[in-house]
Amino acid sequence: INTNEALVNQLDWDKQAGLIPAVVQNHLSGKVLMLGYMNRAALEQTLATKLVTFYSRSKQRLWTKGEESGNTLELVAIDKDCDNDSLLVQVIPNGPTCHLARESCWPDGNAHPFIDNLTKLIASRKGDDPKSSYTAHLFESGTKRIAQKVGEEGLETALAAATHDKPELIDEASDLMYHLLVLLEDQDLSMNDITNNLMQRHTAATKT
Ligand code: AMP
Ligand code: ZN
Ligand code: ZN
Ligand code: ZN
Repeated sequence: INTNEALVNQLDWDKQAGLIPAVVQNHLSGKVLMLGYMNRAALEQTLATKLVTFYSRSKQRLWTKGEESGNTLELVAIDKDCDNDSLLVQVIPNGPTCHLARESCWPDGNAHPFIDNLTKLIASRKGDDPKSSYTAHLFESGTKRIAQKVGEEGLETALAAATHDKPELIDEASDLMYHLLVLLEDQDLSMNDITNNLMQRHTAATKT
C-alpha cells in the first residue's frame, strides 16, 4: 500500500460528511493562500495529477484550481492533521490564488509575523525625539551612520563565530539583524524585499 493510498484511507471522511477542509499554503513563504474542501475523488486526483483539485460546493463537481484562470496550484506536499479531519496542502502557486487577483484570499498574509511587527515598531520611531529612543537616534544620525553600524555588527558577528562563542554569536547576529532592519527602513526597503529576492533565487536554483 503506497503512502498516498494510506493518506486517503486514514482520513476521517465520515466525521466530515465526505468533505475535508484543506488549507493551502505557499511552500516557500509559508503564506496561507486559500481554504477549499476535498472529497475522496478530489484528493485522489490532486495526488495523481499534482494539481490541487477541490470539490466545489457551489459548482457541485470536482474543481481544479486554475482550470479557467490558469492560476493553478502545483502540489509539493500534503499532510493530515492530528485527528485526521483536515489537510495542509503545500504548493507552488502559478499566479494569484484568490479570484480577486490577490496572492492570498486573506488580507496581509504574512510569512514573518515577528519581523513584521519589529519593522512596524522601527518605522514608527522615525522622526521621534532622538533622546527618547536609540532607533530614533539612529534615523536622526543618517544613512552613513546606520550603514557603519551594520558593518560593525557584521564584523562582530563574524568574530563571534570564528571564536566559537555561541551566546555571543546569538547576541551579535541579533544586533546585526536589528541594524539591518533599520538600514532597510532608512532606504525605504523591507525584509519582504529581501525574502522575495531570496525566493526568486531559490526558485531559479531548484528549477529542473
Ligand atoms: P480558477 O479555478 O482560478 O480557474 O477560477 C474559476 C472560478 O473558481 C472563479 O471564477 C471563482 O468563482 C472560483 N475561484 C477561483 N479561485 C477561488 C478561490 N481562491 N476561492 C474561491 N473560489 C475561487
Ligand atoms: Zn483536526
Ligand atoms: Zn479569494
Ligand atoms: Zn554588536
